[in-house]
Amino acid sequence: MIYFDNSATTFPSNRVRSVINEYLADEVSGNPGSLHTLGVNADRLYNECAADIAGLLGASADEIIFTSCATESANTAIRGYLSRNKRAGSRVISTATEHKATLECLDLLKEQGYEIVYLPVNKEGKPDLNMLEEELGKGDVALLCFTYVNNETGSVLPINEITGIRNKISRGTAIYLDAVQALGKIRIDLKKMGVDMCSFSGHKIHSVKGTGILYLRSGVRIDPLIYGGGQQKNMRSGTQSLLLAKAFEEALKEASEKMEDSYKTVSEINAYLRSELAKRGAVILSAEDSVPYVLNVSFRSFESETMLHCLEMYDIYVSTVSACSSKAKKVSYVLLACGVDRKIAANAVRLSFSRYNTMDEAREFIKAVDEIYDRYLVLH
Ligand code: PLP
Repeated sequence: MIYFDNSATTFPSNRVRSVINEYLADEVSGNPGSLHTLGVNADRLYNECAADIAGLLGASADEIIFTSCATESANTAIRGYLSRNKRAGSRVISTATEHKATLECLDLLKEQGYEIVYLPVNKEGKPDLNMLEEELGKGDVALLCFTYVNNETGSVLPINEITGIRNKISRGTAIYLDAVQALGKIRIDLKKMGVDMCSFSGHKIHSVKGTGILYLRSGVRIDPLIYGGGQQKNMRSGTQSLLLAKAFEEALKEASEKMEDSYKTVSEINAYLRSELAKRGAVILSAEDSVPYVLNVSFRSFESETMLHCLEMYDIYVSTVSACSSKAKKVSYVLLACGVDRKIAANAVRLSFSRYNTMDEAREFIKAVDEIYDRYLVLH
């Protein structure tokens, strides 16, 4: 199998699998809220886990909230912040290229009366920062919502410029950042970045599904999305899962240790595929300065889904538009917002890599593409 769909999800690493086995034991399965030794131990380990994760992200342990996924983190941050800070403003600035986890929250806010300003993005996927300055200058902006690394194109947000503009024009405006596709790929130092809220997902970094993180900068107040027993400082009720927290921690530790080597390997794979596919007439849609982990490419004469299924016959797995919306058979709204021609966007396939991919797989991929063109182009 050649798995080039790592932006959709990754498979748990061996280290994560063994931590999970270890943390299925009775001695570490107490409820962190219980008063007896089992509970106290679970609570201590859980807090240590939060501290380790925080350390790897440039945050403090009390700024980390465990969630079930990044979608929950996004909902908690965006909706929770505006619900709690009603006087912060009635406008929100974002882009049309955000993940649905953000876009759907923004639609909901619009129904509640917020004005949502979508900054245009250029063909590299970068938002118009002059317009950001202008819109912030008009005032009444409660929140900025952006994505650090776009899940469909790998485009990297100039986050330092954005926090700089916010600090210059409107210090009271909060920043929510979706860093799901940046985690494990580029170093993240939340304190230095100066964002207020940030979401992460474990299943994109070789943890298991069901593991998410919300970073809430100390001092930022939100209303919780989930009410109940008041766990996690009332920010996210529900019995904490030490097992899932450990799975996330181990995945993040491993990703951090291997980040540089992985970046090098993946860059080599990306450069090879870019050049070989371009030689074959494919249109490369990911900008040169995108993270190398994502390569969006439009194949001539093959609609996205046809190419996906042709590749599947070779045991090669890729995505069309992002996995959560791919069943709807839509042309990528991200590519359209970046100004990509609709026909080219309709043939786009996303290849996304992880540290487990190899150059041999990249060569196999090109061989398969050549065979697909030879075999099926005539029939097509
Ligand atoms: N944000 C981005 C950029 C993503 O790629 C994804 C997953 O596809 C999400 C948010 C949602 O993550 P989760 O699956 O953990 O809810």
